[in-house]
Amino acid sequence: MNPMYGFDRILRQLEKVKALINLEDNIYSQLLEAQKVLEVSIPVKMDNGFIKIFKGFRAQYNNARGPYKGGIRFHAEVTYDEVKTLSAWMTFKTAVVDIPLGGGKGGVIVDPKTLSARELEALSRGYIRAIHKFIGPNIDVPAPDVNTDPKIMGWMLDEYEKVAGHHAPGVITGKPLSIGGSEIRSFSTAQGGAYVLDEAAKKIGLKRGATVAIQGFGNAGSHMALILEKMGYKITTVSDSKGLVVNCSGLNINELAVYKVKTGSVKDFPSGEKIEGSKCLEQDADILIPAALENSINKDNAPAIKAKLIVELANGPVTPEADEILKAKGILVVPDILANAGGVAVSYIEQVQNAYNFYWTKDKVLRKLEGIMCRSFAEIWDIKEKYKTDMRTAAYILSVERVAQAMRDRGWG
Ligand code: NAD
Repeated sequence: MNPMYGFDRILRQLEKVKALINLEDNIYSQLLEAQKVLEVSIPVKMDNGFIKIFKGFRAQYNNARGPYKGGIRFHAEVTYDEVKTLSAWMTFKTAVVDIPLGGGKGGVIVDPKTLSARELEALSRGYIRAIHKFIGPNIDVPAPDVNTDPKIMGWMLDEYEKVAGHHAPGVITGKPLSIGGSEIRSFSTAQGGAYVLDEAAKKIGLKRGATVAIQGFGNAGSHMALILEKMGYKITTVSDSKGLVVNCSGLNINELAVYKVKTGSVKDFPSGEKIEGSKCLEQDADILIPAALENSINKDNAPAIKAKLIVELANGPVTPEADEILKAKGILVVPDILANAGGVAVSYIEQVQNAYNFYWTKDKVLRKLEGIMCRSFAEIWDIKEKYKTDMRTAAYILSVERVAQAMRDRGWG
């Protein structure tokens, strides 16, 4: 993993916030490590009859505010440091939107594309058997992440319930609808991002109709494009790993989504203009949404960014060096721990519905999500103004203070 995306980044952020809020040493020192990181071996009988051992992790950074919460990723480059870092990010994300949860993250070192469907199911069930004592609706609640989806969550829930011997739908979120999932989970990250984008745009005098560039047209980016288009924003640039499409009059996102499903990329979309190179970030657009990779905005490309507003739908897309450059240019950055918190906010709503065994309408869940996102945006904006700082620092001031207060109230100080 790139060191800029590692646990060092959490430590740097904590150091900065400690000085601003006078965080006491006894609390601060406990935030410098995860509470627990579990490493497990998962034996899977492969289709050729041989047993292969996979390595998996579950990191639990802090549970002062509630059960640990965070996704499980299946990726060849998963590391101990990565899951630990992401579990800390989850802790601050759940705190920033004030839902009563802590932060966790899991991962298995595997390229799932190399597995058959049967092997993938066996690995998913094996991972849950390996970590089942450490998770539970009131302990630690996993969810989908990179390369995991509702189908895998369904297998994992089933395995957990078999081991536990009873139903426990609240142990995992992002499940299929038929077994307690949420109707809006597939687009909740984008929907939450759209609510805060709209609030941020108002603050800097941008109106619906403003132009938008989106880097990444996967789950988060494509839903964001569809939602913003419906809200009246003009999506002029979209990129994915294979290419870039630009249309200054606005792309038709429904047609682009259909084209992407058919061809596997946005590249060469017929109604796009021909643009050489792949510089999505530097296109002329009022609003830029990184929705692909970590560190995609760095010291090399930040000086060329023309947008007035950046909304971080991806996790960690702006490096600390780039952050300074964007600040000096007067670009407003809505940080990832707020901008992409819609996913975990709806996961929380899914957990609440599972606990009640009662399900709200889609409209009601959307209204609850809007309330959570807009309230959190306003709270962070007030702190930004009070401390005369940027939104990222304000978001960390709010979230670290909330985690610290829960720790103090438990007598951990
Ligand atoms: P995804 O795999 O569905 O989509 C990623 C997209 O990025 C793909 O379209 C891919 O082609 C594109 N991409 C990869 N490299 C690129 C490059 N160099 N230039 C342009 N595009 C490139 O993933 P996702 O679920 O949409 O997640 C995207 C980001 O959002 C990640 O950082 C993820 O952690 C974050 N996020 C997602 C969710 C969610 O609910 N999906 C929640 C929170 C955070």
